[in-house]
This record gives sequence, C-alpha cells and structure tokens, in this order.
Amino acid sequence: MNFENTLSFALQLDEQDNLKSFRDEFLIPQHNGKDIIYLCGNSLGLQPKSTKNHINTLLDQWQNYAVEGWFTKGVEWMYFHESLQQSLAKICGAKPKEVTPMNNLTVNLHMMMVSFYRPTKQRYKILMEARAFPSDQYAIDSQVQFHGFNPEDAVIELGPRNGENLLRTEDILATIDQHKDELALILMGGINYLSGQLFDMETITKHAKQYGITVGFDLAHAMGNVPLQLHNWGVDFAMWCSYKYMNSSPGGISGIFVHENNFNNAEIQRFAGWWGYEKATRFLMTRKFKPEEGAEGWQLSTSQMLLLAAHKASLDIFDRAGFENLRAKSEVLTAYLEYIIDGVNEKAGKIVYEIVTPRDKKQRGCQLSIIAHHPEPKTVFDKLADNGVIGDWREPNVMRFAPVPLYNTFEDVYRFGEILATI
Ligand SMILES: *Cc1c(COP(=O)(O)O)cnc(C)c1O
Repeated sequence: MNFENTLSFALQLDEQDNLKSFRDEFLIPQHNGKDIIYLCGNSLGLQPKSTKNHINTLLDQWQNYAVEGWFTKGVEWMYFHESLQQSLAKICGAKPKEVTPMNNLTVNLHMMMVSFYRPTKQRYKILMEARAFPSDQYAIDSQVQFHGFNPEDAVIELGPRNGENLLRTEDILATIDQHKDELALILMGGINYLSGQLFDMETITKHAKQYGITVGFDLAHAMGNVPLQLHNWGVDFAMWCSYKYMNSSPGGISGIFVHENNFNNAEIQRFAGWWGYEKATRFLMTRKFKPEEGAEGWQLSTSQMLLLAAHKASLDIFDRAGFENLRAKSEVLTAYLEYIIDGVNEKAGKIVYEIVTPRDKKQRGCQLSIIAHHPEPKTVFDKLADNGVIGDWREPNVMRFAPVPLYNTFEDVYRFGEILATI
C-alpha cells in the first residue's frame, strides 16, 4: 500500500477499516479531555467496556448462590473455563484440550519446567534467547540450580551477532546442531519483548524435535498478537499472560498449552493439585492423584473466578473480531507506524529514531522498538507523554510502541508522528 503522511489519508483508512467498531468497545484513558494515544498494549491492554458486566455478574452469582455457584445450572463455575479453552485454542492454533487458563505466567514457567525440563548428566542444557524478559531468566536459572547444575554452564543464551540487533534463525539452528546431545530444552520467547522480533517457531521446533529436544515458548508477547499454530508445529508446551494483547486485567490469569502427544506420557512428571484431578470424580476426594486428560490436568488450585470473568469478556471480543481479521489490520497499522517514523527521520535528515524490530512483517507483531539516537532520549519519551502519547520506555534508550488492531486507529498513528516530529 502507498501510504501518505496526512490526516485525511489516516482518516480514510479508519473509515475503510472493517474492525473500526471495536474501538468503541474499549475504555480509552483521557488526556486534556481527549482520548489518549495509547500505544502500550504490549504492556497492558485496555479495558473492555464489557469487563465490568462480566465481573458484576460473577459478584451477583456469588451473592445469590454462594457455594452452590460451582454446580447450579446456568452458573456452573466448575465448567466456566471450558468456553475460554475454545477461544484460546483458536488464538494459539491448538485443540481445546491442549490449553487451559491458570495461575500467573512466571508460576506457569516453573510448572511447565517441572514437567518438561528433565535434565540428565548428558542432556541438561537449556537454550534461550539473550536478553529474554528478566522473569524468564530468573526462572530458568533457578530451575537449573534446583536440579544441581550451574547456569553459567547449563544455560545457553544466544544473542545477535556483533553489531546486529536481531537473532538470525540460521544461528539458532546452528546452535541447536552444535549442542544437540546436551540440550534438554529450548525455551524462548515467541516474540522477544525488547526487540519485538518474532521467532520462526515452526522451523526451530521442527529442527529441535529431530534430535529429541523438548521445545517450549513463552508467548507473553505473541498470544493475541501474531498467528500461532502450536499444535501443527509440534511445540511441546507454551505459556502466556493475558494482560498484554489479551486485555484481561492487570496481572490477569495466565494460560498454558500442552501438546496432546504429551498427555499420556508416563515419563512426564508434574506437581499435582486437586484442580488437576479428573473432573468427573474430583469431588469424591479420593487418595492418589488421577489427572484430567489434557492441559487441565496441570491445574493446581481452585479456579480464580473473577480473573476468568475478566478474561472471558476479552476473549468474547476476539471471537467476534476473528483473529485473521485482526492480524490483517495489524500488519497494515504497524506498517503505517513504520512509514510515519521513517518520515520523521527523513525530515530530520538523519536516523534519530532507529527501528530495531524487523522490517519483514512475518518477523514481527504490532510492536515496533526504537532506539532513540538523541542526546536526551528520556526527554523525548517524557515529551510524548506530556502530549498524550503512552508508549513504554526501557533503559537506556529503547522506546516501544504497539498499535493494537482492536482499539488503535490510523489516526492515532498519524497524530503520534505529528507529535514526534515536533520534539
Ligand atoms: C510480561 C512478561 C512476563 C511477566 O510475567 P508475570 O509472571 O505475568 O509477571 C514474563 N515473561 C515475559 C516474556 C513477559 O513478556
């Protein structure tokens, strides 16, 4: 598409957008009486207007049914998560049995490593991307130590080549080849939180599986953002949070994927809790754990109903919008942001705002990460905020902006560029 840096062009794209009505389903914070330009859905998604209703319904049910709410017809908290499994399965390309909402993301990183990081004396290493999200680094290091290994030796952190910002798939594959007999696990982000680079999960998984290496992905920045086919790719397990692109409340419930090939593998250990027990007989309260088949068998604790209600509000919106439509808009919207930033640099006659996220749309979601080559990069960010633009800032000079197809507009992107150009 040939873009134009004019308000009328941006408004025209908004007019033609078949998802435009969805913005009105979200609560947009205000700045000086106007909608804020919110480009931070990669960190915390906006609140759907319907979330309050879903939570109020839950509170009413609690009020009216109390403990009976778990089984009373038409309420049935016991089975509430099942409709979420359907929606989540569509978003990540899985069978409904392969996914379940539960816990929080870092908790699930640990729970999944309990089952899928089973080191031996020969095979004990974990491959991850360098500069992964800190919680992933801490979780992986501590798991390795828990098993009696030294992270310095057991954790391979693969970074970009010298002078480059992105990781090359060929380097990932070569590293797998080099360590094929020592690697117990590959556990990477689907999208790196800092660079916005989307990894080729299919190629990585298929390459690793031929050597019998277990493969998992942290999809915090990928779920609800980019197309996923976890089942067909043969990924062993994955986990994500719901509060970034899935708009399901701050600290909202996480979710997991376990490939059906792993359901009945007796070698896979797990930490068990009663909520993972076979649903039909859970309340017989018998001795000896018998897991529900599928991802639900990894649940530990009683469902967090308020968080599930908030998650449901958001997933209903995804169901109605259709993920393919969202991705189609997202590609154009992010390309427009890229065009607008390129334009600001052109006008300045030098690269002030260097886009480090891949230019290839197949290697990114909606986030663009920018290195500000500016004497005082933080002041740029602060001035954007003063003018009603919310992005996010990572020391020492990285700014991240994510136009989200459910609620951001081409006008948002145009106005962002207008403000950036004046700084
Ligand atoms: C956001 C994010 C987290 C946060 O974990 P919580 O347990 O939800 O606090 C962890 N890992 C990655 C890759 C993230 O992007």
